[in-house]
Amino acid sequence: MSRADQAEREAVLRPPSIDRMAGWPSLQPLIDRAGRGLVIEALRAWAAAKRGSADVADPVACRRWCEAKLAPLVQPSQRPVFNLTGTVLHTNLGRALLAEEAIQAAVDAMRSPTTLEYDLANGRRGERDHHVAPWLTRLTGAEAATAVNNNAAAVLLVLSALAAGKEVIVSRGELIEIGGAFRIPDIMTRAGCRLVEVGTTNRTHLSDYANAIGPETAAIMKVHPSNYAVTGFAKSVPASELVPLARAKGLPVIEDLGSGTLVDLETWGLPHEPTAREAIAAGIDLVTFSGDKLLGGPQAGLIVGRRALVERIARNPMKRAMRLDKIRLAALEATLRLYADPARLAERLPTVRALARPPFEIRALAERLLPAVGKALGSRASVTIEPVRGQIGSGALPVDLLPSFALAIYADKLDRLAQSFRQLPIPVIGRISDDVLYFDLRTLDDEPGFVDQLERLDVVAD
Ligand SMILES: *Cc1c(COP(=O)(O)O)cnc(C)c1O
Repeated sequence: MSRADQAEREAVLRPPSIDRMAGWPSLQPLIDRAGRGLVIEALRAWAAAKRGSADVADPVACRRWCEAKLAPLVQPSQRPVFNLTGTVLHTNLGRALLAEEAIQAAVDAMRSPTTLEYDLANGRRGERDHHVAPWLTRLTGAEAATAVNNNAAAVLLVLSALAAGKEVIVSRGELIEIGGAFRIPDIMTRAGCRLVEVGTTNRTHLSDYANAIGPETAAIMKVHPSNYAVTGFAKSVPASELVPLARAKGLPVIEDLGSGTLVDLETWGLPHEPTAREAIAAGIDLVTFSGDKLLGGPQAGLIVGRRALVERIARNPMKRAMRLDKIRLAALEATLRLYADPARLAERLPTVRALARPPFEIRALAERLLPAVGKALGSRASVTIEPVRGQIGSGALPVDLLPSFALAIYADKLDRLAQSFRQLPIPVIGRISDDVLYFDLRTLDDEPGFVDQLERLDVVAD
């Protein structure tokens, strides 16, 4: 090739300037969405990747390439999904869904300055806790209350404020580990307390506690066994026995209720789950529980109990590091307010609504959806309606299962089919068990939204 030919060939293959490419009409929608800076970055990468190829000047290929490259940046990382796993409070999928009242309160708090720590009556500084404490005391019968980031923080704070450098007695049957590295022995260490284990895995007696109390004891702790049950030859000591013993020794009893609930779930035909009010009535001095489990609110850790102890906790510097922001406090306050009218909870609070949903209604929903899902699957898979058992999740009633109905999908390449459901605009998350993909419909609220996207189901290629 002559030198002149060579030069001409290079001129043809040299990419157009980045600025010129950025002016291509086919790229304008992407620039609108992602911003010019990111598109320029992608174009530089494109020019480098396609150097010497005839493709480099192809606007359509370039647009597709840049769109794929920028997709992770243009799309939010945290996306709404359909939780059809059968676990109502799914920790990995964000636990409780908020009531419309709580969503509105959070949005209002986001948009404007608020009285977060401001007392309108006298124009002075106010208390953050005052937005929720009156509701928490009213709903649990406790003298005082405070709220922090989550229940793990609440437990850490209570232990640290009451028992740092001292001993805390816990039954061996209650030394729980829950997901996400929350283990009672580790939390104790981090709080600066020494764990004194009493009893055995299956049986702990009042005398075990009594014998362990010594000059270094700062508290007795009870923990709700959230994700397991010890059955058979088992015994634990109820608060009604533990409290008199602790009183006689001048020690506080603290209880980590885990999920904790403010209402009796039996109202909706569910088995009994301990309520915070029962723990307080039994004489527990401090009770901690989560805001985003059965309570149905935003992530939070709630501490209720004796005034003097709650005040001690509120003064602890760690509390400042665990405090709630105005958005979550607004959502929490609005959620708690709904409990003033328990009769309407099942209609207003999505968590209670899902738990209270009767199986016949879920079955009817399955029957309505069956044709559309069958059509979307075509010859790739078959689908039927099957009775299944879901669960509450997040450590409430670990053994009791919720009778429900699911769409059960049978296919050769089940993993791939599950993946294609996860690639829908609103990903659909089910549960695979024994080579069947189950979509438990207890938690499906947006029926039209689910159906509308089915036609976009594409089975993922190899
Ligand atoms: C869920 C749970 C926790 C942790 O609560 P978070 O709100 O997730 O921090 C602690 N203890 C028990 C017994 C639990 O069930």
